Amino acid sequence: MSSKSPVWHPFHQHGLGEPIPLVDRAEGAVLHTADGREVLDVISSWWVITHGHNHPRIVEAIQRQAEQLDQLIFAGWTHQPAEDLARGLRAIMPDELEYVFFSDSGSTAVEVALKMALGFWANTGRARHKIVVMEHSYHGDTIGAMSIGERGVFNKAYSPLLFDVETIPFPHQGTEQATLDTLEAACAGGGTAAFIVEPLVLGAGGMLMYSPGTLREMRSICARHDVLFIADEVMTGWGRTGTLLACEQAGVVPDILCLAKGLTGGSMPLAVTMATAPIYDAHYSTDRAKMFFHSSSFTANPVACAAANANLAIWREEPVLDRIATLSERQSKGFARIAAKHPISNLRQCGTVIAMDVDAGESGYLADIGLTMREGLFRRDVLMRPLGNTLYLMPPYCIADAQLDRVFTAIDEVLTEAL
Ligand SMILES: *Cc1c(COP(=O)(O)O)cnc(C)c1O
Repeated sequence: MSSKSPVWHPFHQHGLGEPIPLVDRAEGAVLHTADGREVLDVISSWWVITHGHNHPRIVEAIQRQAEQLDQLIFAGWTHQPAEDLARGLRAIMPDELEYVFFSDSGSTAVEVALKMALGFWANTGRARHKIVVMEHSYHGDTIGAMSIGERGVFNKAYSPLLFDVETIPFPHQGTEQATLDTLEAACAGGGTAAFIVEPLVLGAGGMLMYSPGTLREMRSICARHDVLFIADEVMTGWGRTGTLLACEQAGVVPDILCLAKGLTGGSMPLAVTMATAPIYDAHYSTDRAKMFFHSSSFTANPVACAAANANLAIWREEPVLDRIATLSERQSKGFARIAAKHPISNLRQCGTVIAMDVDAGESGYLADIGLTMREGLFRRDVLMRPLGNTLYLMPPYCIADAQLDRVFTAIDEVLTEAL
């Protein structure tokens, strides 16, 4: 056997021979590599870690639950961690979202949302199939989730498998009305089942941001035409945008809400799709053919639910929103200094998500400058993954000032070197 690792990594081109760091422990914002480096994880291990790695309360909850009940069939059976979590979510999420359906990842939360929407229409005798989506969206990598996401290099090879959707343009500043008009037209026909959108920030699409006012308008267009409004808050949820949910900033409540990533503080794979009573009621019957036909083996895994309950306790008992506010302010100052010194455009921020485009003569996800910056930052013990020429920061909320300063210095040096 060769010494080459048999591991096939996601979103990684093995052929480029980039080093693959081996990490053996983490705490807060720091990853400790096997070769003794301390790397700052300023993308929260791909947008999932909220309070910091290995938060003691979450670790303890996982340990305790693992000794008690490891896994349970969830079709018609239940356990206390799931019951507590569903009630805990009901207490902090909008009142209208009365029901909680569990799954394992953001992608499955989205698949479940789509199936709930079509199930709602099918079970109420009105066949509606069309899904409306926003340009540049990302909703996951399973076939359904890819179908409703931006078409491009990510999914070109699989395009024959993807179903058709109707796409509205991204509401760039000044072009919002065109977006709203297209949505209105797409909803007016009567055959539209749902509109799905990432509220305020389109993550993988390049950290593109739009206004709460536009989100509010989109929500009311859907309501006017009886089109289900699905909020994919997989990335934006759990304080990322400055509030618990991004939807809050627009004062809107979706019919269906997808949560994952930060649900367990980022410690365990778990997702929920929350729905309003009419959607649940459409599946509620003595007719077994109307039940919701979706499950995965690890639906509501007890250990993952315990981790999520610890996350909720942290939200209840620690000043999470204050931490977020302080962090966003520091990020904003740091990026302003960098932008003043380097060829940067579109500096933008929403809560703890801050991004800028580096003007290096090329753009798009495969822009070489992205890889150059990633390598330069890694040499300086900073983990970032620029989206093409878009450089962004999405750190865990616990990151210290001195750590952030180290990141800003690293970015400054890398840009000086690269440009
Ligand atoms: C990450 C992400 C997903 C997919 O979540 P996974 O847990 O990676 O499957 C879906 N929607 C959005 C907005 C995301 O950022």
